[in-house]
Amino acid sequence: MLFSKTFIPTAREAQKNITDPSVARLSRAGYLAADQETRTLRLLPLGFLLWQRVISDALDLAREEGLQVAGFEDVPEDAMTVSRKLLKSYRQLPLTFFSGDMKRWIASGLAPDPGSAGDMRDRFLEMAGTLCRHAGLDPRSGETIKDGRKYISLASSKGAWFAKEGFVCSSCSWCGDDASPAGPVERPGGEASPIKEVETPGADTIAELCSQLGVEPAATMKTMFYAAEQGGTKEVLAVLARGDHQINDRKLSHVLGGAVVRFADPLEIREAVGDLAGYLGPVGLPKGIKVLADRHVEGSQGLVAGANKPGFHLLNVCWGRDFSPSVVADLVSIQEDLPCPACGSRIVPSHLARVAVADKGSGPSELSFQGEGGTACNAYSWEGTLCITPLVLALAGGDRIPGRYAPFDVNVLIASMQNDDAVGLGNIMAERLEEKGLRVLLDERNERAGVKFSDAELLGIPVTIVAGREASEGVVEAWLPDGSRGEMPADSIIDQVLRWVR
Ligand SMILES: [Zn+2]
Repeated sequence: MLFSKTFIPTAREAQKNITDPSVARLSRAGYLAADQETRTLRLLPLGFLLWQRVISDALDLAREEGLQVAGFEDVPEDAMTVSRKLLKSYRQLPLTFFSGDMKRWIASGLAPDPGSAGDMRDRFLEMAGTLCRHAGLDPRSGETIKDGRKYISLASSKGAWFAKEGFVCSSCSWCGDDASPAGPVERPGGEASPIKEVETPGADTIAELCSQLGVEPAATMKTMFYAAEQGGTKEVLAVLARGDHQINDRKLSHVLGGAVVRFADPLEIREAVGDLAGYLGPVGLPKGIKVLADRHVEGSQGLVAGANKPGFHLLNVCWGRDFSPSVVADLVSIQEDLPCPACGSRIVPSHLARVAVADKGSGPSELSFQGEGGTACNAYSWEGTLCITPLVLALAGGDRIPGRYAPFDVNVLIASMQNDDAVGLGNIMAERLEEKGLRVLLDERNERAGVKFSDAELLGIPVTIVAGREASEGVVEAWLPDGSRGEMPADSIIDQVLRWVR
């Protein structure tokens, strides 16, 4: 392809307002036109090639995993219509259609039983992970607490359009956000001493309480009142968690079957607990009030809790002896000092962009087919999405686009169009490289060498070959994928390039 005939609007400076470093880099390199406000990307010719190569690799991997690449419009709907018409027997299951566009690809699966639906879903996610690894990226696996969806994310930089705040494990591939399922909880020990009331004037925060009593935040328990509304009814309930943990609204809502939850207001609390006042605690709450506890406080002995009396707390509060919650559940946010739910190692904050997500599946669906022995069976369905754009943005973060996906293998750069030897050698090189099956960009623009060099750096094509001053001696300068540069005889370079690129 000729540079002069291709629309590659490179820019000297990055567009200032773009927060995503990869978007900024690709728009500066003329791959795409970006709009920060609407977060739209318009793929220009180079961008289209880049996206297309990633998609093509994804489809090869999908086929290897048994996904049927098809051209559907509304994927789940079309998959069902096609299956209803053409599926003859259970022997054709499991069946997963995979269809999409430049942005996303949707897997729509049907299986004879929940187990094989789960297997196909895992293979789909594995495929997404392999695709990330092909791009030199480190895929992370997570799971949502709400509906058990599994996803693959990539650590991204702050400001990345598709990234959200979350955590990654320092030693395994776990990732999650504040509402991710927490890991196993160590049962706290301790002696059961008699309960004791102490005066704690002005101890309105856990920090102040701890400093007055000389205890660790982990030894305190907070009692929060929430209003949960669902189906037109409202309930005020108490939620217990360790003083150093945060109660997570999404987890609480999940445990309450999807109720809308919020902090109860003072009036609602008074209606629920009566005359109790001051620092609220679980000891001596009215019988009617539902008490939920996070798993971290289950079985705890010797906690500090509010005394339900202005200016007082209780010491040595014991689970079971002094209070008995009706529900124990995973209710607190994932935070940095909690261990990795998967392996127990340290977790660190990160920005994560989701590249694939798959649901747990549902079923049996209305689609029935003849099963083994002639009985009618219903298929189980599941759905997954592969998000192309966050993946491409993650792989385009560095100086060079990974060779596997770069729009060209080689950029042949003629330093000066006034130098006949350079022009001749550049054209010959481009031709010979193309003959070898490589994709070549030939920079034959009538531009200053400096402009061409800086554009070559921006484009990030794996190999650049410069036909310049030494062209008359048959020598070119090669920029290699590892970043090194050196002069080489043009004769021997073709085979070298093949080795670097493949
Ligand atoms: Zn881990």
